[in-house]
Amino acid sequence: MPATHSTRMLILGSGPAGLSAAIYGARAGMAPIVVQGIQPGGQLTTTTDVENYPGFRDVIQGPWLMEEMQAQAEHVGARMVWDHIVEADLSRRPFRLIGDGGTVYSGDVLVIATGAQAKWLNLPSEEHLKGRGVSACATCDGFFYRGKKVAVIGGGNTAVEEALYMTNHSHEVTLIHRRDSLRAEKILQDRLFAHPNIRVLWNKAVDRFVAGGDPEGLVGLDLRDTKTGEIDRLEVEGGFVAIGHSPATELFKGKLALDADGYIEVETGTTRTSVAGVFACGDVMDKVYRQAVTAAGTGCMAALDAERFLAEMEFEASAAA
Ligand code: FAD
Ligand code: NAP
Repeated sequence: MPATHSTRMLILGSGPAGLSAAIYGARAGMAPIVVQGIQPGGQLTTTTDVENYPGFRDVIQGPWLMEEMQAQAEHVGARMVWDHIVEADLSRRPFRLIGDGGTVYSGDVLVIATGAQAKWLNLPSEEHLKGRGVSACATCDGFFYRGKKVAVIGGGNTAVEEALYMTNHSHEVTLIHRRDSLRAEKILQDRLFAHPNIRVLWNKAVDRFVAGGDPEGLVGLDLRDTKTGEIDRLEVEGGFVAIGHSPATELFKGKLALDADGYIEVETGTTRTSVAGVFACGDVMDKVYRQAVTAAGTGCMAALDAERFLAEMEFEASAAA
């Protein structure tokens, strides 16, 4: 018989959105359970320096910030559970989530804060070399490429930060971008262009990750010029794909209104989803801002929206009685 954990407020996800919802939910007496998933602390645990989260004059570390957020949530009464949810039943309240070992979590309200996951180029050669030269997280895997030539693919904040980060390990970092201008913030671009160990290849797309060596690993990238179609080989041993993220909403397809890109739709100015009692916050519902502080802000909103929803339900139930 699988175990069942019941609570008034069930939170799915333990990034800044889920943990902020947990802090507010616990302080409102909703005894939240946070199902952490396979990435406790969320995306910020894959980065190093964070210098735009308010409240810290000095540069702080992403994993440290998330440990502090979790400690604060636990301190005020939230309970963390390590599990990965494979099924969601939103057809009636209490809502039910099922973990991959069969454990059932039920909540009178559900806050979804599943964030986003790294996108891949979806080339067969990329799949073949994942973990053997091809990665989507320089801050996680960069250390393994100490003294080697590496490339980072993408033109947003993540790509630029990963390229800068890789200069800690490599003297030859190449940023590959499909267009002739970056979408990363100006301050990051300035640092990138000023760095002597980084060069940028414009208008290039990866055609193939080239395998070689014994044991087999990445030995190069075949790059296609996006203007001329010409193919050139770049010799590298590490290739970091940093082309953005997709919302983690697979569980909710057909159960909640999602937009064309798969993000959870919420009523403007709220975190209310298309199912009453289900709220969404953070990167899973925000494709515009996608910052730790905005995720935390919408996490707070979700807890407040959830608290009001429960109060209204309870008021209606007592009036009916
Ligand atoms: P996430 O942080 O993505 O957390 C999602 C959570 O949901 C995880 O805990 C995961 O385990 C859980 N989950 C997902 N699916 C399931 C499931 N099926 N079952 C159980 N749990 C599940 N922002 C900044 O403001 N400043 C920065 O300096 C900065 N640097 C960044 C650097 C990198 C490399 C990256 C990738 C992002 C960076 N960001 C930065 C963006 C920031 O990390 C995100 O905006 C923020 O983490 C979003 O928070 P979230 O809580 O919505 O989701
Ligand atoms: P992003 O802003 O969506 O940028 C993705 C980049 O990858 C774009 O330059 C895009 O090219 C390129 N790209 C997308 N698909 C591609 C493909 N198939 N082939 C080649 N290139 C492709 O994603 P992100 O950089 O991960 O940032 C996500 C969010 O997190 C943003 O809101 C960002 O501000 C935030 N973030 C913030 C920080 C920070 O504040 N320090 C750090 C990291 C991330 P085009 O430009 O041509 O579209």
